[in-house]
Amino acid sequence: MNVKTSRNATVLRNLRIWDGTAWADADSICVQGPSITALEAPEEQPGKPTVIDCAGAVAIPGLMDAHVHMELNPEHSKPPAQTDLNQQPQMEKRAREMVEAGITTARDLGGGAWLELKLRNRIAEGAVPGPRLICAGQPITSPGGHCHFWGGEAADLAQARRVLERQVSQGVDLIKVMASGGRMTKGSDPSKPQFDVETLSGIVTSAQHHGLPVAAHCHGTRAIEYAARAGVSTIEHCSWVGQDGWASDYQEEIARIILERGVWVSPTINRGWQRMLDSKTGAVLARVRAAYGAMLEMGIPFVASTDAGIPGVFHHHLPEALGVFSRIAGLTNADTLRSATSGAARALGLSAITGRLAPGLAADILLLDGDPLEDMAALTRPVGIWANGRAVRLP
Ligand SMILES: [Zn+2]
Repeated sequence: MNVKTSRNATVLRNLRIWDGTAWADADSICVQGPSITALEAPEEQPGKPTVIDCAGAVAIPGLMDAHVHMELNPEHSKPPAQTDLNQQPQMEKRAREMVEAGITTARDLGGGAWLELKLRNRIAEGAVPGPRLICAGQPITSPGGHCHFWGGEAADLAQARRVLERQVSQGVDLIKVMASGGRMTKGSDPSKPQFDVETLSGIVTSAQHHGLPVAAHCHGTRAIEYAARAGVSTIEHCSWVGQDGWASDYQEEIARIILERGVWVSPTINRGWQRMLDSKTGAVLARVRAAYGAMLEMGIPFVASTDAGIPGVFHHHLPEALGVFSRIAGLTNADTLRSATSGAARALGLSAITGRLAPGLAADILLLDGDPLEDMAALTRPVGIWANGRAVRLP
């Protein structure tokens, strides 16, 4: 593993460049330190640039997963009773596998002991390889509510604010709130909201006071409505769970609030959803497709996410998940890739840092031996990877 950044420039030549929005009219990327300095090799370079011939590879921005849990072990079939405090090596292994798969940014949406923040800092220092992490710490949840074992229980707004302040004091990048129950926690009901709209609005206001966005876990329709009205930044899952189950309660008026408030939807479609595409019956799939299709048609922006860490969902599987996401949501390959690059950066407030191949942004670069706009499977064949200017894999 090479995690060095060189002071001299590196010029990657002989590329086809898709910059996160469209094909670029350039065939080289110049990298210096952690940043992209130019598309096209400048004629004069300070020092001797290292020139790498990339043999016609396709360059795209490093991929972004908007919903992961670094502390969760996907091989465990049940959630932990509490955070395992001795798992730094496994978390570092997950981070390494992610960046080796071309995932250069990930948003961690919950843990119990801020271990992922320590990992975030070690990656940023260059001490260990991994994606840039932005972290929420302990999610705010109701007493006994979804993922209460992480320690973020709050019965009212005053208690929610105390949980929030605790996260701020630990140095989080955003706030996560469990607006509805979840499937993983016994006794919590995915179809029911855990907080009313006033409490959610108060949480958003307090987070804004600290300059932090809010991500809201929402399965049930009422929770989706409350979170949208409260003005969260992203709605996680957005499952439209009603009395008749998953995706049974899509409501256009509520989708319109999501659109008007500029909220991003993070649908957490992982590789395992392939089984829905394979299933012969497909009633849930038809409902999911209808709901997502209506939201996309309306213009609601989607950000790619997997919920990595939950049972069976591995941290480095976003490249495979994107193919499943595009087929389930009915997105073009280009729109799917935008949702995991330039769009993801907008959703996460990182557009000034990453998400596109452009001068001034981080050198988060993925080289592929095929064109993912033609075939998403090309994402699973990285031939070169740079994360924040560090070469993870050289062509
Ligand atoms: Zn999650």
